[in-house]
Amino acid sequence: MSSYNTETICVQGGYKPGNGEPRQIPIIQSTTFKYDTGADMGALVALEASGYFYTRLQNPTNDMVAAKIAALEGGTAGMLTSSGQAANFFALFNICQCGDHIVSSSSIYGGTFNLISVTMAKMGIEVTFVPSGCTEEELDAAFRPNTKALFGETIANPALTVLDIELFARVAHKHGVPLIVDNTFATPVNCRPIEWGADIVTHSTTKYMDGHGTAVGGAIVDGGKFDWMAHKEKYPGLTTPDESYHGITYAEKFGLGGAFITKCTAQLMRDFGSIQSPQHAFYLNLGLESLHVRMAKHCENGQAVAEFLQGQPQVRNVSYCGLPGDPYHELAKKYLPKGSCGVVSFEIRGGRAAAEKFMNSLKLIAIETHVADARSCCLNPATTTHRQMTEEQLAAAGIPAGLIRVSCGLEAAEDLVADLRQALGQL
Ligand SMILES: *Cc1c(COP(=O)(O)O)cnc(C)c1O
Repeated sequence: MSSYNTETICVQGGYKPGNGEPRQIPIIQSTTFKYDTGADMGALVALEASGYFYTRLQNPTNDMVAAKIAALEGGTAGMLTSSGQAANFFALFNICQCGDHIVSSSSIYGGTFNLISVTMAKMGIEVTFVPSGCTEEELDAAFRPNTKALFGETIANPALTVLDIELFARVAHKHGVPLIVDNTFATPVNCRPIEWGADIVTHSTTKYMDGHGTAVGGAIVDGGKFDWMAHKEKYPGLTTPDESYHGITYAEKFGLGGAFITKCTAQLMRDFGSIQSPQHAFYLNLGLESLHVRMAKHCENGQAVAEFLQGQPQVRNVSYCGLPGDPYHELAKKYLPKGSCGVVSFEIRGGRAAAEKFMNSLKLIAIETHVADARSCCLNPATTTHRQMTEEQLAAAGIPAGLIRVSCGLEAAEDLVADLRQALGQL
């Protein structure tokens, strides 16, 4: 399937029905699977045969959708998780343990920032954050002998910075660690990080992949190129026998293409759960079938809204890498030639009060914490998610009180611009 174009994989990837079988992917709504003999099931549990025995680890519906996402990203294996948070945690924790260290771009989703800097720190995993636009020397300097992964987001939520994937991949590989890229905002329709050197790709499928605000979910894809055995001492979880799993050495038994996802499934899913429900996987697949059509429209609307806002006297500045003056425009031309996403952020003059008045005046664009679905929505961190912070604290965090993030949906650009225009007119 991966030899087909992205559009074709979006529609038909991951599932090929046989004669007389359902055209749409079946929802295997079953926690468990039946076997004729104990030996049949034993072979599955021992990872000697492939098949299903318990949905906490694997489910056929999920695997069809994961295979589609893996094909879209050009990876060798994929898995679904219950959320984007679970995807990023698993991707990191699959290769890090107490005493290890991660280097991450500081320009990442707030939930991931908390996960890495607070929760994983409690597990004894340290992090060094680097600015997304850092030089090769700055990035080099952040590495330690115990660094196990480099992490970044293709287009960061909500800062909208664009990651220099080739630079990050080169430095990661120089230090013998994989680059993990969260590709949620770009989606594989607009960027395939593995082609630029990334090793593992993660997603919050809750966003554009689902695209309709229907189901929380996540995905992990392995590019299958990182040679764990070449860094045997660094990654004992993959390169030495797993006593909790019949003494299997994942990198030996499943090779470059399969080791990472097999370990993540057999060990982390087994122990932490966090599986996506087959029903959610079905919804996700419906979203994926139109992802290529929707992304083009999200980008068209994002561009129209960004261009409109840029010219308005009530707006101090606009962040959107599709704008020629944006600091990330050159990187976007390289990594996102088809467009970035539908999320635009801008700072309104007059701080919190102006932002609040503006947002309350919107008729079509709703106030939501969500982004990246069919219906346009917006958020002012200062009056919602970050309301406990003072103006000074907000400024220090790089979040001006008047900052508004608008996620352009699939409505007519003209109607979105008209709504923004009338709300700005209220100020
Ligand atoms: C939303 C988001 C997440 C977290 O995903 P959930 O599905 O909400 O758990 C992770 N990364 C990025 C870039 C996101 O936008």
